[in-house]
Amino acid sequence: MTIPILDLKPAYEELRRELDDAYHRVMNSGWLLLGQELTCFETEYAASVGVQHCVGVANGLEAMQLVLLAHGVGPGDEVIVPAHGYIATWLAVSHVGATPVPCEPDPTTFNLDPARLTALITARTKAILPIHLYGLTADMPAINAIAAKHGLFVLEDAAQSHGARCHGHAAGALGHAAGVSFYPSKNLGALADAGAVTTSDPVLADKIRHLRNYGSKVRYQHEYLGLNSRLSELQAAFLRAKLPKLAEWNGRRVALAARYHTQLKSLGGLQLPHVPSWAEPVWHLFVIRTERRDALQKYLSAAGIGTQIHYPTPPHLCTAYAGHGWKPGDFPLAEQLAREVLSLPIGPHTTAEQVDIVSAAIRHFFNA
Ligand SMILES: *Cc1c(COP(=O)(O)O)cnc(C)c1O
Repeated sequence: MTIPILDLKPAYEELRRELDDAYHRVMNSGWLLLGQELTCFETEYAASVGVQHCVGVANGLEAMQLVLLAHGVGPGDEVIVPAHGYIATWLAVSHVGATPVPCEPDPTTFNLDPARLTALITARTKAILPIHLYGLTADMPAINAIAAKHGLFVLEDAAQSHGARCHGHAAGALGHAAGVSFYPSKNLGALADAGAVTTSDPVLADKIRHLRNYGSKVRYQHEYLGLNSRLSELQAAFLRAKLPKLAEWNGRRVALAARYHTQLKSLGGLQLPHVPSWAEPVWHLFVIRTERRDALQKYLSAAGIGTQIHYPTPPHLCTAYAGHGWKPGDFPLAEQLAREVLSLPIGPHTTAEQVDIVSAAIRHFFNA
């Protein structure tokens, strides 16, 4: 591909000194787990989000799983999840033994549609788990109002939304707690798997701190059936090196997204991402929608332009969930999005020229 969907190599080139320093700091310290780097990163990340607590964990999936576990969600309970999104969100629910209850997306933002929430709430519902998909926050005031009315817990999936804002408040500070992923390709990415929980609830944070380390407060005394889900010193140090760059790198994504919007506006047959007036997205992905998606992807690929589909199969139709009895047609909006969405190249090191080339190719495809 001449234009990849995302290239991670330039990130190291730009931050070589900081990342090399981080590596040497950890190697020279001889301390590899649950040390100073993690504590410092947790403090710095919590401050950047505007919450009281950050607990570093092994990955985004376990971040959400640990929150649900700590909140006491388990077998017999239901958690409302987006029908359109990544399977990790659903798996966090399934892995604590609870049942994911899918909610169709808003057809303009592709995020969980709050207007459809109330109808899904039952006596078993314990929590709502919205994703801030593609870097755009879900409509959290609407979701929180419904949750408050029914006494439900709100867990954000903030894996794609580091630095995104909703009415001025950062993703990760919009519900009772959030699960964050620092998978390498995310807006804030480590150099291996990594994740965190953010929350302003001290009791929840404390419990997760123990749950991530075998449920132990004092070594070899185990109070809970915990997990091994620790964020390593090396990854914490890398994340500390990258965190000060997050706002600048998100800013580059915002500029590139604006450029796509200008260049692709009013093309018949193409839907561009919609940004509500209250939202400040960070463009983890730039996702367009068209009925001619497969032909467009093939055309761009032949032109050397890398794209991806996030996501080609909605979770309810994945083989992993075959046992639940869902079938095609159960969530038609999510299924339609799975057929029509396409993610274009975007990242902190994507250039304006690359956006121009991709846009010209798309215009040519639709005008031909
Ligand atoms: C990446 C991602 C996750 C999972 O994060 P991991 O760190 O890979 O476990 C969860 N939800 C969404 C929306 C994601 O994009």
